[in-house]
Amino acid sequence: MQIVIVGAGVIGLATAWRTAAGGAAVTLVDPSPASGASAVAAGMLTPVSELTYGEEPLLRLGLASRDRYGAFVAELEELTGLGTGYRTDGLLQVAFDADDLKYLDDLRRFQESLGIPAEALTGRESRRAEPMLAPGVRGGLLAPADGSIDPRRLTAALLAACERAGVRLVRRRAARIAVEGGAAAGVGLDDGTVLRADRVLLAAGPWSGDLEGLPPGSVPPVRPVKGQVVRLRTRVPFLRRTVRGLVKGSSVYLVPRADGEIVLGATQEELGFDTRVTAGGLWELLRDARELLPGITELEFAEVSAGLRPGSPDNAPLMGPSALPGLVLGTGHFRNGVLLAPVSADILAATLLDRPVPEVAAAFAPDRFSEVQA
Ligand code: FAD
Repeated sequence: MQIVIVGAGVIGLATAWRTAAGGAAVTLVDPSPASGASAVAAGMLTPVSELTYGEEPLLRLGLASRDRYGAFVAELEELTGLGTGYRTDGLLQVAFDADDLKYLDDLRRFQESLGIPAEALTGRESRRAEPMLAPGVRGGLLAPADGSIDPRRLTAALLAACERAGVRLVRRRAARIAVEGGAAAGVGLDDGTVLRADRVLLAAGPWSGDLEGLPPGSVPPVRPVKGQVVRLRTRVPFLRRTVRGLVKGSSVYLVPRADGEIVLGATQEELGFDTRVTAGGLWELLRDARELLPGITELEFAEVSAGLRPGSPDNAPLMGPSALPGLVLGTGHFRNGVLLAPVSADILAATLLDRPVPEVAAAFAPDRFSEVQA
């Protein structure tokens, strides 16, 4: 079976590895592998704290992926000898004022109604857990099973794993889906070459709808949602785990890494394909972070970047066959693509290889938007 995968972000890479390991001949097409949102993402593995009313199927998918992460990373690290910065030290959400605390309280009740344990902390208990927190922090919510990973190290390891599994990497832009007899027959590159395939996976993040040749019903309804992040550095221990704060209704998070990097994020902006870093975006992040952790102003500045999340109409991914036979979609992972990589790779590899697909995938079939598109 010949498979061509368009896009080598965390989703395309993880799926290429699993599909090649499953016995297919896989070609991965990307002019600049791992350069999209996966290179900017903070790497929080936090299905519970991302929970929003009405997103229960996404929560189940997130939990299924988080449960797979330990084994996924262990296999990847052993195979490649490369680290990924995977951590399972939990997540502490904290509230800055009384309204923020009310929101956390509602979130805790909602989580408990779904049978997910959540530990409410007072302001003092929150500071005991994270001594750098500001004295004014009103309270917190601890999700002990959440974690984080360094997405840049993860994609580097996935690239190495793909190489070992025999995946062929073609560093070119895919320009069109080649259609023959009403089915996807391969991918046309920007130099005119056509890579023939039995199945094509479109995993090009927010660019997934841009390829020519896609019949109208098969164009994934994805859009770019910009996020800016700041990378800081510390030589002394600053945070023990990921901290996410609500500061007068606005959300900010800090993800510490073992090497001293701290990722501070993230803005959420609907500005099309715009990856400019703005003074206003940075100011908001630093302002809110300083309210929660005043010591942050002492940290060394390392980098600032902006990426484009692949957003979908219901904030959930599109995974499975499209309306065009032979074309599978694997995009729309929005704020959760790093978290969802292991389960997405299982779902998409099973789809490409004609094997039984994990049940949790049912809610994410691309045809849920077909009426909207029509
Ligand atoms: P991408 O990583 O964007 O990769 C798409 C790839 O497709 C790119 O390499 C690109 O070069 C390639 N491509 C594009 N067009 C073509 C073409 N025509 N031909 C060939 N290749 C093409 N998720 C989490 O789980 N936890 C987080 O903490 C988190 N934080 C985030 C913070 C920010 C600021 C942002 C922006 C995102 C964050 N995310 C997080 C979301 C996560 O990064 C995305 O959901 C995930 O990276 C999507 O992966 P992807 O492989 O679909 O897309």
